[in-house]
Amino acid sequence: MNSAYFMPTRIVTGPNCVFENRGILKELGIRALVVTGKGSAKANGSYDDLAKALNANGQSHVLYDKVMSNPTIDCVFEAAELARQEQCDFVAAIGGGSPMDTGKLAAGLAVQKIERPELFSAVFAKALPIAAIPTTAGTGSEVTSTAVVTNSAAETKTSVVSPLFFPRFAFLDAGYMRNLNRETTINTAVDALSHAVEGMLSVRASPLTNALAKESIAVIMACLPALEARLETPLEIREKLLFASTLGGMVIANTGTTAVHPMGYKLTYFKNIDHGKANGILLGHYLTVLEKKDQVLKTNRLNEVAAALKVEGFDDFTRFLGRLFGKLEPITLSELETYAAAAIKAKNIGNCLIKPEQKDLLEIYTRAYRPSGA
Ligand code: ZN
Repeated sequence: MNSAYFMPTRIVTGPNCVFENRGILKELGIRALVVTGKGSAKANGSYDDLAKALNANGQSHVLYDKVMSNPTIDCVFEAAELARQEQCDFVAAIGGGSPMDTGKLAAGLAVQKIERPELFSAVFAKALPIAAIPTTAGTGSEVTSTAVVTNSAAETKTSVVSPLFFPRFAFLDAGYMRNLNRETTINTAVDALSHAVEGMLSVRASPLTNALAKESIAVIMACLPALEARLETPLEIREKLLFASTLGGMVIANTGTTAVHPMGYKLTYFKNIDHGKANGILLGHYLTVLEKKDQVLKTNRLNEVAAALKVEGFDDFTRFLGRLFGKLEPITLSELETYAAAAIKAKNIGNCLIKPEQKDLLEIYTRAYRPSGA
């Protein structure tokens, strides 16, 4: 079987790895644009560690700390403008997916003329080099070439992909996740789980990505019961989740995501449901609906997914995820129909090994939501 794998990011891990490996940052230039969300990078110590590392290297930086969750087009252009004005040589992005993705786009937009309406069709010819410091264990953006932005014109979130967006370095220190609350910890872990599962169900899956995905799934499934049971998450579990989410990123960097992500983007865009939770609400039902379709195709891939999840059937898995997220706010059938009609047009649908039709997407939504009325 022919396959290829590409992921050029150098990964360093462990407690205090930013400061201890600060020497590699010197390769990126002398002035950094540091991109963060509004408060967490300062609260969890990651910004201080990076600032200390840059100072010790004799590198200067300017801070862009205005990234909101689900960043807007205005936000990424504002960050890029700051990088240009301040003549930054590189971008260091700290945070969950939103700051890391904003950092990637700022790195590209700072060095070439791309207008707002062209953003989603732009081909980036160059970008500033990027260092990424994840502070949640979910997105995997530290090892992907994808940046996701809110696309108001299309009423969804849309990916911009360029090989230049692979960070040069990823620093994985689970200590920055110590104070994440239970809800964020679960939502992000389930996002990573969704990356690994969807990666296995992609037409671009390979033996290498499946091996990474199976390990990611095994680690996350072993950790989730502990997250469900307690309020505090021990550091050793956080380290495992960070490892698993980076594996998930390494998977989707090569496979892309499938139907769950574009379906989840609709829930995030219209109902402000957190990204990981939106995927988790749909993931079990997605597997159940695909199982029915696969009775004809017989890919055997769903058996491999079930084995990796260590579940007998997907109903148990769906119930488990349901317990994690509790009662959902109702969504009407007509809204779900609109979401299904839009999500079927997403480019990720072309990635699906077992291709769903629009009616299948609607079935996934309605199974998840038991709609309140038309
Ligand atoms: Zn995701």
